[in-house]
Amino acid sequence: MSQWPLIAEIAAAVTSGKTTAVEQVEKALKTIADQKEYDAIIATTADRALERAKTIDAKIKNGEAVGRLAGVPFIAKDNYLVFGAETTAASNILRGFNAPYQSTVINRLEAEGAICVAKANLDAFAHGASTENSDFFVTKNPHDTSRVPGGSSGGSAASVVLDMAPFALGSDTGGSIRQPASFVGCVGYKPTYGLTSRSGVVAMASSTDTMGPLTRNVADAAEVLDVYAGPDPLDSTTTPRQAEGYSVTGQKMDLQGVKVGLIKQYMGDGIDEAVKKVVLEAADKLKSRGAIVEEVDLPSLPLALAVYYIIVPAEVSSNLSRYDGQRYGFSAKDATDLESSYVQSRSQGFGVEAKRRIMIGTYVLSSGYYDAYYKKAQTVRTKLINEFAEAFQKYQYLIGPVAPTPAFQIGENADDPLKMYLSDIMTVAANLVGVPSISLPAGTVGKLPVGLQIMAPMNKDRELLLMALAAEEVLA
Ligand code: GLN
Repeated sequence: MSQWPLIAEIAAAVTSGKTTAVEQVEKALKTIADQKEYDAIIATTADRALERAKTIDAKIKNGEAVGRLAGVPFIAKDNYLVFGAETTAASNILRGFNAPYQSTVINRLEAEGAICVAKANLDAFAHGASTENSDFFVTKNPHDTSRVPGGSSGGSAASVVLDMAPFALGSDTGGSIRQPASFVGCVGYKPTYGLTSRSGVVAMASSTDTMGPLTRNVADAAEVLDVYAGPDPLDSTTTPRQAEGYSVTGQKMDLQGVKVGLIKQYMGDGIDEAVKKVVLEAADKLKSRGAIVEEVDLPSLPLALAVYYIIVPAEVSSNLSRYDGQRYGFSAKDATDLESSYVQSRSQGFGVEAKRRIMIGTYVLSSGYYDAYYKKAQTVRTKLINEFAEAFQKYQYLIGPVAPTPAFQIGENADDPLKMYLSDIMTVAANLVGVPSISLPAGTVGKLPVGLQIMAPMNKDRELLLMALAAEEVLA
């Protein structure tokens, strides 16, 4: 049982004076302190959080408006620029960096009274699927500390399951919200590309980065998304909100006649039999409420992972060029001139995975290889977009597993990048195509949670959240 009621209820209790924002923040900070052994948290923002809580409580006493998330504590993945603690993206090269401004997502949550209490661990620069690539420490899976919590938002996902706060923020570039949600057993929401501002989040791949919540239930995810989704002048790729917004609290969707495509390519070779069973059982439960579930064929899907690992490193190599030891972050002390300062700062500051992606990215973008790799990958990406569009002509939603396995052992894939990349095989397509996707707890394999992935067409986030709400009830 969680110590946190629904987010809307926490805010109502704070606003009505039943509890205080300070009490909520103290509860979160105590839980964080009590669960140190899981290494989910890089730093707390305790001083600033308590200050903000006091201000909110004072406003309530004065009868001033405090917003719909008044006093609700949350945890941000440490690639969000937040005041009150360093922003490191779990990388050595950003150690000591204090953000001069906050991300749009954080500002919008704060404008409604939410309070960031801590920064969560991640794979450095969000490169990874296990949180083992963090330059700080490896986060442990709350259900089995010998296993990973998934990644790259592993700290955020673990913090929710460890009940440290009612919600945490993650970023999803190729699965980094959904895969850890599946591994630890919480809800992870990846919005439509463009619905959430990327401003003030350490850039990974600009054409697929999305900002989403990790929560204990669908209603909370929708409540949080509703606060920060929508156009932002600081991010020119942002798109309009849906007119009805995203909150689904107190709503219901009938599954009768809803058309669902079960993705064939995700249920074939390479998937763990026990995971497959959980997904098939979930499909049966949807059918038992009247949903029409049929197998759907997306022939180019087996190419998605290769496409992703060309396009994303290309964008990564470009986005990481700003870490040059001159402007902010780590600067090598032993450099003798500007050139050697660049080389030394980057050589010493970046970890193995960032370097690997910079190498691959610059390679596929270099003249002579651009046509062979990058251009071809973009062509296949368009093919994937078309195949998804076609599938969505027939089906309102697509479902499948989130990852081919439950949480793996710490160290199991750490020395084999290709094996690690395979953990993303069922999540990257949604990012390449831009569609919204959610991971919902669907069952367990032994004591390890397994998620169900549900996708909807682009800009149908509200419809996806309603579907997830209905599925959540059936799967419970
Ligand atoms: N695991 C994927 C990768 O390493 C996804 C990362 C992400 O979504 N941030 O690229």
